[in-house]
Amino acid sequence: MRPMGKRRGAQALSSRRERLLEEAVRRGADGYLLADPANLRYYTGFSGSNGQALIAPGSCRLFTDGRYELQAAREAPGCEVVVCREGLFEALGEAAREMGIRRLGYEPGAVSAAFVSEWRRKAGRGAPLRAAGGAAASPRAVKDVGEVELLRRAARLSEAALTEVLGMLKDAPPGAWSESSFAGELEAEMRRRGADDRSFPTIALSGTRSALPHGKPSSRRLRGGGLLLVDWGAVLDGYHADLSRTVLPERPRGGLRRAADAVLRARERVLRELRPGVRAADMDRLARSVLEEAGLGRFIAHSLGHGVGLEVHEAPHLSVNSDERLEAGMVFTIEPGLYLPRVGGVRVEDMFLLTHDGPQPLSSVSDTIITNYHKPAVS
Ligand code: ZN
Repeated sequence: MRPMGKRRGAQALSSRRERLLEEAVRRGADGYLLADPANLRYYTGFSGSNGQALIAPGSCRLFTDGRYELQAAREAPGCEVVVCREGLFEALGEAAREMGIRRLGYEPGAVSAAFVSEWRRKAGRGAPLRAAGGAAASPRAVKDVGEVELLRRAARLSEAALTEVLGMLKDAPPGAWSESSFAGELEAEMRRRGADDRSFPTIALSGTRSALPHGKPSSRRLRGGGLLLVDWGAVLDGYHADLSRTVLPERPRGGLRRAADAVLRARERVLRELRPGVRAADMDRLARSVLEEAGLGRFIAHSLGHGVGLEVHEAPHLSVNSDERLEAGMVFTIEPGLYLPRVGGVRVEDMFLLTHDGPQPLSSVSDTIITNYHKPAVS
């Protein structure tokens, strides 16, 4: 059974909202509209799937429907809960005016275009919207102690589930499992171990199919001792794990062995350079340069990593296009990968907390490449 998640105190939530308003003011707004589940959960505590919140200095109003009335009152201390049966946009506009908001900031990336146009049509006179991108998203990049603990537990639970399921695969008759049944077992095992959900549909690709960076598991049968790439993770109290493991054949072909060595070397170099203040883009460039030095640059298919938290992909973005600097307290993945057509793919993905002393792994970095799942355990 899953232990009940600890509710965040009213004080902690209200200081998060103060921080959000500081960011909003910097972007020319004097209030903020939250309309997506991750931001609602972070700033109000409310974990339902439908809601909107208006944040102004010293006040928060949370709009939701009747299904969530009790839940919202329990989860969102310090917010006035409004159950809105009809005319949501009109009610929001009215409330914004009552709260004295004149320019209502919102996160363009977290709200649909339809929402924005509805707002303009029906609520705009209450408070015109002002795009204030990053105001809600960027404070979430630095995690507090409780968040780090949940991410660590989510990572450990995910890993324990994989170990269990690889053991089941080892004991299964040859050809009994497909990529798809492997993925299904792994997800079931995470739930048996207390996960709320999977972070995203599990990727389990075998043989040359592993060269598809984000392929879908198929009915292809798993052969004992074959190449298997798994990208998976559990959600625990809203927090997402995201890990990848590559199971190598006992005697990998030359290309595969070289790719595995290169991604491990790229990770090693990045981990040595990671510290607060470095540019996220420079870390991606560094990993690329190591893979290029190995002559494998053309097999890179994605950027180095991304933040994880209430969303599986969030700030910071470790990519050449990012202008972010990494800070102590951020949690992100490091996931160099190489994808060799007709040979196979290798990806190692772990989660790290950045501290003043450098990166601290939240997952078992040493197990990222697994080489012997098909062998009987030798004692
Ligand atoms: Zn990832």
